[in-house]
Amino acid sequence: MINYTKFSIVFQGVRIYISSAYKNHMENEEQKSEYTGKLFLIVGPSGSGKGTVIERIKGKYSGFVYPVSYTTREIRNGEVEGGSYHYVSKEKFEEMIKAGEFLEYAVVHSDNYYGTFKKDILEPLKRGAVVIREVDIQGFNSIRNIVPKANLVSIFMKVSDMEDLKGRILRRGKISDEELQRRFESAKKEIAQAGDCNYQVENKWGEIENCVGNVERIILAEIKSLY
Ligand code: 5GP
Repeated sequence: MINYTKFSIVFQGVRIYISSAYKNHMENEEQKSEYTGKLFLIVGPSGSGKGTVIERIKGKYSGFVYPVSYTTREIRNGEVEGGSYHYVSKEKFEEMIKAGEFLEYAVVHSDNYYGTFKKDILEPLKRGAVVIREVDIQGFNSIRNIVPKANLVSIFMKVSDMEDLKGRILRRGKISDEELQRRFESAKKEIAQAGDCNYQVENKWGEIENCVGNVERIILAEIKSLY
């Protein structure tokens, strides 16, 4: 039950009662205004090249912040602990959920947890940093309810078609038909929300440099106002 009588303000001679829920909302808004940096979320189906694009940008711009997420999925060949992820057990991840350490977390492809660490994102944003992270569409939906619009830029990575996507997923390593199907289901949900992102960039097979260049141009144009 919302307590409408606890908080009130007098506006033009009239006392207005504020619900505690609205007061909390207003306090969050005030907190949000502390952010002076920009968070770039790279969104798009698994296999669309988000990780590769971020790696290229990271190689060129070491002054940006690239937070490491947490996941319960197995480490793949060629990946290292602390690269794009910290690899933890389901138990450890659930402890971190209870401790309120995640900005957002989601079960991705119906099997594993993925989550962004709150401090790794919000603290650099308060310092005025440029922060770049890939998340799935659930992560994007959560974060856009937390980080103010002025501090958030979302870039959706498009692939040419589902055949192209299938090829990309299969090239990353052997997976079962069931897992491929799950990734396709996730991809359909992601693609349906592409229009909610601020930008859409196509990643044509064999033209990664083009795609990286487009993402880079977006970032540089968006951060002009910070400097
Ligand atoms: P992969 O297992 O292929 O590295 O990632 C699977 C999906 O999880 C990708 O769509 C990736 O962008 C997403 N993902 C990676 N990190 C996070 C995170 O911290 N939070 C959320 N919600 N999704 C993430």
